[in-house]
Amino acid sequence: MAKSGPIVCSFCGRDKKEVKVLIAGITGHICDVCISQAFKIVNEEAGAQNNQQVQQALTVLKPQAIKKHLDEYIIGQDDAKKILSVAVYNHFKRIAHVANAKEDIEIDKSNVILVGETGTGKTLLARTIAKLLHVPFCIADATVLTEAGYVGEDVENVLTRLLQAADYDVPSAERGIVFIDEIDKIARKSDNPSITRDVSGEGVQQAMLKLLEGSVVNVPPQGGRKHPDAKMLQVNTKNILFICGGAFDGIDKKIAQRLNTQAVGYSASVANEEIDKSNLLQYISPQDLKAFGLIPELIGRLPVLTYLKPLDKQALRSILTEPKNALIKQYTHLFKMEGVKLEITEEVLELIVNKALEFKLGARGLRGICEAIMVDFMYDMPSDEKGPKTLVVTLDYALDKLKNARITQLKVA
Ligand code: ADP
Repeated sequence: MAKSGPIVCSFCGRDKKEVKVLIAGITGHICDVCISQAFKIVNEEAGAQNNQQVQQALTVLKPQAIKKHLDEYIIGQDDAKKILSVAVYNHFKRIAHVANAKEDIEIDKSNVILVGETGTGKTLLARTIAKLLHVPFCIADATVLTEAGYVGEDVENVLTRLLQAADYDVPSAERGIVFIDEIDKIARKSDNPSITRDVSGEGVQQAMLKLLEGSVVNVPPQGGRKHPDAKMLQVNTKNILFICGGAFDGIDKKIAQRLNTQAVGYSASVANEEIDKSNLLQYISPQDLKAFGLIPELIGRLPVLTYLKPLDKQALRSILTEPKNALIKQYTHLFKMEGVKLEITEEVLELIVNKALEFKLGARGLRGICEAIMVDFMYDMPSDEKGPKTLVVTLDYALDKLKNARITQLKVA
């Protein structure tokens, strides 16, 4: 039989009449006042734990250690690795600083912008860093974003992906890393006739500002368009690191233009410096991004600017076999799981590299070419129990497979 007597909060003893809500549990009750107090304690505890993790990350992951880790997965791109390592380290320092905020110096966010041709490792850099730091990571494509109210995705949807990556754990998402790809595609379109609004260009840049600088944003948990009845999650972007990447096709001309005018104009020192014309990207500066069509406010919120070099033959060859999860290592492992030893001759590796260069897809092309060569082996081998225990991929075999493969298939990223 149920116990009679007044119903009170089992935590503070307040009577039902003294509180707004009293929730019944199996053996007791809790009032709204105790719930909010408990919620505060849980949040403080989570905050302290996050802080501890940040402090730990700072002691272990110094910039040199971060770069060393990146070296295991990414070939070349030393400048980008170095700059990114420092940016990430400073980002964590900043979070730690904000948490202990006693001093009145504010450290700015170190959002990054990576400029480099497609398939040179921009996404890979961001992804590898996020894995190292054990923080949620997501990739968003700037090309699908439009100004709120227009056909396309609102910029807040970028954070929906991050929430999903964090299993909807908001505090965890608030320390995540977002990679925004193809940022160059939202450049202001200067030839845009003034009667139409530039909703997927400058409009998106404007909308992105508040995301990048750090503010509380209402995010639709399931993505899609915002509408008045939808339940929103509030996400503070203050400690989210944004890394933007883009190919910025043709920006080398803007760089050359700037360097030229400087050389003949005011800056005599640049004139004396030997300019490496084969890789103008290394001289990239915020001015060039502005000339390309990014608005100054956006450039200001992406203070760390670096570049990735186009991958030459030697780099592509290294990418095939050297990184920790290099493509050839992956294929070798797949075959080993079937009890087969895979051998790929040097000539075949060279062929793969040459084809990748031909398709101008950077390292992105390597995978498609390898797949075209290996697919028949991988199709037959699992069923062929009496087959050879060593497979040698020769040049003739590879050439034959590539001849039969549809070129469009190879170009798939
Ligand atoms: P981007 O974002 O610059 O277009 P990605 O980072 O997506 O290019 O690169 C595509 C793929 O190519 C990666 O998954 C990776 O396997 C390979 N890759 C690209 N650049 C490098 C590199 N510098 N070192 C190792 N692998 C690379």
